[in-house]
Amino acid sequence: MTEDHARTTHSGLSPRTQVVASGRPERAPGAPLNPAVTFTSTYIADGPANYARVDNPSWTPFEQAVGELEGGDALLYSSGMAATTAVLSLVPVGGVVVAPAAAYNGLVSALTDADREGRVHARWVDVTDEAQVTTALEGADLLWLESPTNPLLDVADLAALTRAGHEAGALVAVDNTFATPLLQRPLADGADVVVHSATKYLSGHSDVILGITVTPPGAGEALRQRLARHRTLGGAIAGPMEAWLALRGLRTLALRLERSCANAAELATRLEGHPRISRVRYPGWGAVVSIEVVGDGDGAAAAEAVAAGTRLWSNSTSLGGVESQLERRRRQPGEPEAVPVNLVRMSVGVEDVEDLWRDLESSLAALGS
Ligand SMILES: *Cc1c(COP(=O)(O)O)cnc(C)c1O
Repeated sequence: MTEDHARTTHSGLSPRTQVVASGRPERAPGAPLNPAVTFTSTYIADGPANYARVDNPSWTPFEQAVGELEGGDALLYSSGMAATTAVLSLVPVGGVVVAPAAAYNGLVSALTDADREGRVHARWVDVTDEAQVTTALEGADLLWLESPTNPLLDVADLAALTRAGHEAGALVAVDNTFATPLLQRPLADGADVVVHSATKYLSGHSDVILGITVTPPGAGEALRQRLARHRTLGGAIAGPMEAWLALRGLRTLALRLERSCANAAELATRLEGHPRISRVRYPGWGAVVSIEVVGDGDGAAAAEAVAAGTRLWSNSTSLGGVESQLERRRRQPGEPEAVPVNLVRMSVGVEDVEDLWRDLESSLAALGS
């Protein structure tokens, strides 16, 4: 993690300024401050744009802003899974993909299906075990990383694993959804492509589904073109209104993250040692905390009751919004078995931390002692 608020983007601005300043229309007397939303399916012939499955000016400001934050060139998609699928399409038929055993369940399900159908071979690893990852990389085409992982919050040494991936001749993709480019920039560690579910922190208000890929300038241009072609032909494009909403949400990313991270740190400290919690998973940064709840048997019912018993926190899947959310992850079909059945993932929002604590504490207290 590089929590480097002194870092400047190529524009010479701090990332905290850049989320506010980038992706604006050119300044001219009478020009709008915000970009337009272009609702069209096609364009008059002989211009730079031809058809709106290929190009929409509504995508550009958000792509520019996220690209600058990550230090590369961004492509917007209809969802995080569309971006993920585009990256997986880079693997040749019969190729080998090394991925975390407990990564985001959509990635795990997509890879498991592709493996079962004989399109690729999946090798599952523990990303905290560098030796194990290095061994698995023999003959690999793609190393897929996620850090912190969803929902176990395992942290990978991105620079070391990226080096190992490249030494094995593999492409390295990093899902940076949990960290955001304000806390971690995988391209600076050498990754070939960064993926986001922009549904989460980047847009930040639980009101859109979007995804993004970012490739490094120069060396990554060929990759960007392959991804763009996959987007055009796969058709997983973003709606213009969603792109606009995401940019509007991105304006406050630095503020939202600052508060969410501070709240998460405080809650993680208070939850530590709670008699109803056997383990608090918190990497020491970020805005997600996972807890393992103690109860009868495997604790699954108690974990379910804690998630269902809150009034302020919403018992709902997803994360990264201003609103605090929690859920027992194993209630999701396709959640990897490496995730304990009593694990509750908490996406900490920007509310007052005392209100969040009281709500959580009373839901835990309702389990009895
Ligand atoms: C939610 C999520 C995704 C999938 O994104 P969608 O926008 O829901 O398609 C991918 N990776 C991570 C880490 C996620 O949390």
